Amino acid sequence: MVPRYDLDAALLGRASKAGAEIIEGTAVTAAVEGDDHVEVELGGAGTAGRADGPVGTSSTGGTDGAERMRARWVVAADGMWSPMRKHLGIAESGYLGEWHAFRQYFTGVTGAAADELVILFEADLLPGYFGRSRCPATRRTSGSGIQRGGKVAVTEMKALWADLLERRHIREILGPGAEGKGVHRAWPIPARIDTMVPATKRTMFVGDAVGACDVMTGEGIGQALLSGVLAATEVIADGPRGHSAATRYGAAVRGHLVADHRMSELLVRALRHRKGARPRSGWQG
Ligand SMILES: Cc1cc2nc3c(=O)[nH]c(=O)nc-3n(C[C@H](O)[C@H](O)[C@H](O)COP(=O)(O)OP(=O)(O)OC[C@H]3O[C@@H](n4cnc5c(N)ncnc54)[C@H](O)[C@@H]3O)c2cc1C
Repeated sequence: MVPRYDLDAALLGRASKAGAEIIEGTAVTAAVEGDDHVEVELGGAGTAGRADGPVGTSSTGGTDGAERMRARWVVAADGMWSPMRKHLGIAESGYLGEWHAFRQYFTGVTGAAADELVILFEADLLPGYFGRSRCPATRRTSGSGIQRGGKVAVTEMKALWADLLERRHIREILGPGAEGKGVHRAWPIPARIDTMVPATKRTMFVGDAVGACDVMTGEGIGQALLSGVLAATEVIADGPRGHSAATRYGAAVRGHLVADHRMSELLVRALRHRKGARPRSGWQG
């Protein structure tokens, strides 16, 4: 297990070493696409929805203090709420993801979860789950995920979290001295790689911005990295070819991820039922 903080720092370090200019703490606040470029505004007042005019033609500062940049391509790795989708007018209004996840760090874990990754398919959460994983450097995370529209409503999750932590078998895997640190946090998780628009003329959406999470587990880091690699290798490094960038990137991302997505959908269908979740062997709790 690698804490997310370390993974992100390592990736940023590699990008910087490879020559990328890193601009931290500055949001993309507007974007407009042309046929062969994208213009983005950094650190401006922000625009919701489509920016309705060019935001500038160079990377010099604007009069409002915002920075303007022009690029041949944009790889939008801007997460579940993808502001780039909004700026380019293709965000789906009211979309809240397929999953909702909870997470909290624990100390003093001495049960089975001290050394093992434990996933419990609780009957009342199916096809959702409760999981415990161990990160190096003393921290252990506990999390649970539920499918939006499933047995448990998202609004019930806060109460459910306290209830889960009181269940005898969960207390056992955590150990008697386990203590939650800080507040638990909740996020929506997007898992619809099969239907989301993967790219516009000059912008490719990757990771959560293209709904690439696994529909069964809610995991998405591997898919985020893979879709970023595909945007770079299939389109940017490959230069102009017969088909448009949007078509080529869309085909690559679907070719790599949609078969897994369909398999996970099938497994989710099985997990909706107690029988589908019943283990044949191994740890029974
Ligand atoms: C509780 C929880 C636990 C999870 N556990 C796992 C796990 O164990 N394994 C796994 O594989 N996946 C896990 N996932 C899913 C995983 O976190 C995501 O799929 C993954 O982070 C997606 O990466 P991303 O780069 O696409 O988006 P994000 O990691 O969300 O990154 C988006 C980035 O865009 C930036 N951004 C947003 N708007 C702007 C803007 N206007 N201008 C500039 N930057 C902007 C944000 O600051 C952020 O840094 C978990 C998710 C949750 C919620």
